[in-house]
Amino acid sequence: MICRIESKDYYVIPLNGNNEVRCSLKGKLKNDFRLKRGKLYKTDIAVIGDYVDFEKADENSGVISGIEERDNYISRKSPKIKGSGYRGERLEQVIAANVDALFIISSVALPYFNNKVIDRFLVTAESSGIKPYLIINKTDLDKENLIDEWTAIYENIGYKVFKSSIVNNSGVAEIKKMLEGKKNLFWGQSGVGKSSLLNKMYPEVNLGVGEISNFTDKGKHTTVTSIMIESGKNTYIIDTPGVREIDPYGIRKEDLGHYFIEFSEYASNCRFNTCTHYHEPGCQVIEAVENNNISPERYDSYLRILETIEQDIVF
Ligand code: GDP
Ligand code: ZN
Repeated sequence: MICRIESKDYYVIPLNGNNEVRCSLKGKLKNDFRLKRGKLYKTDIAVIGDYVDFEKADENSGVISGIEERDNYISRKSPKIKGSGYRGERLEQVIAANVDALFIISSVALPYFNNKVIDRFLVTAESSGIKPYLIINKTDLDKENLIDEWTAIYENIGYKVFKSSIVNNSGVAEIKKMLEGKKNLFWGQSGVGKSSLLNKMYPEVNLGVGEISNFTDKGKHTTVTSIMIESGKNTYIIDTPGVREIDPYGIRKEDLGHYFIEFSEYASNCRFNTCTHYHEPGCQVIEAVENNNISPERYDSYLRILETIEQDIVF
């Protein structure tokens, strides 16, 4: 399994538990890929979490000769890069493959709780078939329990919300238990306490926090820098310091509603089956918002994402 990528070096952890092996990609894989997509887009060929076949050249190095089909993968549109001659074309950028759970980490304050960003990640998880969990950290800063309303919104629609505080050491053990035996992708805006949480859960693992934050922006392509940490038996954490935001890739306007899971029971009764739940007559989702059966905050998130899909160039 690929656990780290540095430029053209792919670090593979053998399934027999031996030391990681630094591999290059066999030329044939690159050629096959070029044929499939018409162009070479490096980050997609092999990503963190991919299971691979490799041949050892010596004790610590080798060549990847095959990549197994992915169970799932999480991706986004590559960020817009100004002045790059990039024609506004935004390709699919794969962040990680074969992920069991996505942990979306936020905080009560510093930075403030941002539901819009969380909803984008929830949409991405739902459309990738990856189970999402929410973590709201820094509950010690929530003197008036303001976060309870947000917790209720997400729990009512079926998402598990963990509340934690590193300062009070609360909630941490519960989160750690949920990670066991899984490949977990961690995402959080800078400052929410992701590193603090990882260090609290795994003090024995050297996370090299400074090292892994080498978010590279090489002008034309922005590479996703992620790293996988083996934190226990069959337990992995994929940290994503290079992913600041996410724009779900490949979702059509009329499909977005499927990924707001609480819409489905209403959406099936909309007058038009291509309803985008925006302005159409006979829309049951809009009616559910008016009747307070769907939270207006979630619906507002939905509209904002819908708007960004409309602005896209179709190609
Ligand atoms: P990251 O950017 O998400 O990795 O965030 P860090 O782990 O570096 O934490 C950012 C800041 O938030 C640091 O000053 C931490 O001490 C602080 N912090 C982390 N967790 C908590 C918490 O539960 N409560 C409070 N009050 N501060 C926290
Ligand atoms: Zn509708």
